[in-house]
Order: sequence, then structure tokens, then C-alpha cells
Amino acid sequence: MSRPGSNYSLRAFITAAESFGMPVRVLRYVDDKAKLSTVKSGNDEAYRPFFRTLSLSNDSVTSLSALSPRPPSEAEHVQTAYHEATHAYLDVRAKEEAAFQTTMGGWQMLFDGAPLADGSKGDDTDRLVQEAAAEYVGHRASRFWMALEAITYAGLRLEKTKSQERKFWDSLRRIPLAYNTAMSQRSFGYQDRGPFWSSHQVQTTMAIPGPLKDFCDRVILEGRIPDHFARATFAQRYVDLCQSVPGLDCRL
Ligand SMILES: [Zn+2]
Repeated sequence: MSRPGSNYSLRAFITAAESFGMPVRVLRYVDDKAKLSTVKSGNDEAYRPFFRTLSLSNDSVTSLSALSPRPPSEAEHVQTAYHEATHAYLDVRAKEEAAFQTTMGGWQMLFDGAPLADGSKGDDTDRLVQEAAAEYVGHRASRFWMALEAITYAGLRLEKTKSQERKFWDSLRRIPLAYNTAMSQRSFGYQDRGPFWSSHQVQTTMAIPGPLKDFCDRVILEGRIPDHFARATFAQRYVDLCQSVPGLDCRL
């Protein structure tokens, strides 16, 4: 049940995402405990801690509710939903569980003086932890989804054209590589710099600390988004697809 005042729900998205092997526990938690309120523009999508409100655009909600790996792509909306839901989850849990607030405090210490891309040292450790977790989770969920879309699009193309072109073979071979490269990225998180009238975001160059990464992998992503394509739920589907193309040698 969404909170009173909510004008959308994540339930259709959760049901669909779960059927494709994506993690949904955190989405359920947020659907239950945060107020869900739509905004007109994608630029206003955010989680607002003070109001415990997760705002997604009408476009995102419509797209996510009809989540399917066939075109059009939902990858951008998947990234936003997991990113903002991670903010909501961390914030609500820290407000409701003292022990979790302590855990967050421990992660913040790991970001004290974190190197930033402009050469300065990070000093907003609360923000750095929040954005590192949200970016890490959003990135991994959307790259997982993009790989599933890429396999599906290739299958549809094959059905239609029995494509034997070199270009098609190359793009099919690149799917696991693109996934593995994306999943090896480790530097996430940013904070604001400068006076409020011209503040800008500066990324940290530090790798996400082990304890926070572990929490994101195990708890938020439920161990469902592996580093290697070969271990993902859709790997077999990819191998089957490759084997259906005569003459194509496609390895993981
Ligand atoms: Zn964020």
C-alpha cells in the first residue's frame, strides 16, 4: 500500500521487474513507506527527504509500468527509478532504525576527505554516501536491463531478417563485453561545490568503499546483478540466440 497522498504506485513495475530477474525488495519497501508523487518534467525527478516523497515523471511511471525488453527502451527510466529509490530506502531506513543510522555514519567516515575530480577533497560525506550508493545501484540495474534489451532486439532482428551481416554479428558479440565493462566501473558519488547560486556537482574519483558496495550488492541488488555476463540470468538466452545463427561463434 502506498502512503496517503500518493498518486502513483510502483506495483506494476515491481511485478514486471521481478519477472525479468531484477531486484525488487527495495522498490517494495519504498512503495510501502514513501509518498509517491508524479512531476511533469524528467528534470524534477528526485527523492525529497523532508517530505519522504519520491517524485517520478508521468513518462517514467508509464514507461516503467509497461516494462518489457522489446522496444522502446526503458533503460533511462530504470536508472532513475533505482537511483531515486535507493535514496528513499537509505533515508527512510535511517529514520526508522537507529542501528541503520549508525551503519550509514560508518560509511560516511569512509568518504571523509575523498578525492574529487576538481582536485579538492570531499567534505559533504552524507551526500557522497547517498550519491555513491544511488549511482552504483542505478548504473548496475540499468546496464543489466540494457543487456536484456540488446539480446531481445537482436532476437527480433534475427526473426525478421535472418541477418547474416558482419555488422550484426559484431554487435551480437559485443553484448557481453559491453556488460562486463560497465559492471567493472567502481567510481561513483558526488557532492555539490560552490555558492548556492552557482553550485555544481563534482564527482569523486574514489572507488566505492567495500562495505558500501557489499551492502548495495547484497541487500539493495539482492545478489541479482553479477559482475560477469556469464553469471547473469539471461546468459543462456544469449548463448541460445548465438547458436541459432549459422556460422557464428559467440563465446562468453
Ligand atoms: Zn542522487
